[in-house]
Amino acid sequence: MPQTKKINAVMAAQKKLSGELSKLVGLRKDAEMDLEENEANHQKYLNMTAEVQERYASGTVGYRELADLESQLTYFAKRIEKLEFQHNELLARAEKVRGAEANARALDKRLREEGRALVDSLKEQATAIEQEIGALTKEREEVVTYLSEKNLAWYAEASKRFQGLAVETLRGSQPSVCRVTVPASSFGDIRRGPDIVECPYCHRILVTDGMFDL
Ligand SMILES: [Zn+2]
Repeated sequence: MPQTKKINAVMAAQKKLSGELSKLVGLRKDAEMDLEENEANHQKYLNMTAEVQERYASGTVGYRELADLESQLTYFAKRIEKLEFQHNELLARAEKVRGAEANARALDKRLREEGRALVDSLKEQATAIEQEIGALTKEREEVVTYLSEKNLAWYAEASKRFQGLAVETLRGSQPSVCRVTVPASSFGDIRRGPDIVECPYCHRILVTDGMFDL
C-alpha cells in the first residue's frame, strides 16, 4: 500500500528533524546564555563606572587616587566598548539560531499534519476494505444456499487446488481461464451434458450454461 510507504518516509523525516531540532535548541540555549552573561558583565561595568565616577566627583579624593580612578574609568570604558561590540555579534548569532529553530518547528508541524492525514486515509481505506469484506461474506453466504452439497464440496476442493480461481465459464469455444479452444466436435457432448462440468484441459469447474447464447 503506497500510504504505508509514505507514512514510513514521514516518520523517518520526523526522526531526522527531531535530532536536528534538539541540536538547534542546544545552540539557541548556548547563545542565550552567552548573551545573558554578556549583558550581566555590561551591567557590572556600568555600575562600577558609576561608583568610581561618584567617588571621583566627591571632592574628597587626593591627587594620586584621582589618577588611579581615571585609569580605572578608562579600563571600564574599554571593557564596556568591547562587551557592546560582542553583544551585537551574540545577538546576530542568537537571531540566526532562533530563525533556524523556528523553521525546523514549522517543518515538524507540517510533517505531523501530513503524517496524521496519511494515517487517517489509511484508516479510511481499511474501513472500506472491511466493509467490502463484510458485504462479500454476506453475499457468499447467500450464494452458498443455492448450491448443492456436492457442488459446494467440489468448489471447496477446487478453490484450494487453484488458489481461489476455481471456476471458469465457457464463452464461445474457450474456457475463460485456461483459454484452450474446445474443438467443435465436442460441442454436442457439452450441450447434452450437465451445466457444470470439469474442464478437460485445466480441470477447473467449467460452467457451460449459456455457451450457446453467443
Ligand atoms: Zn480450463
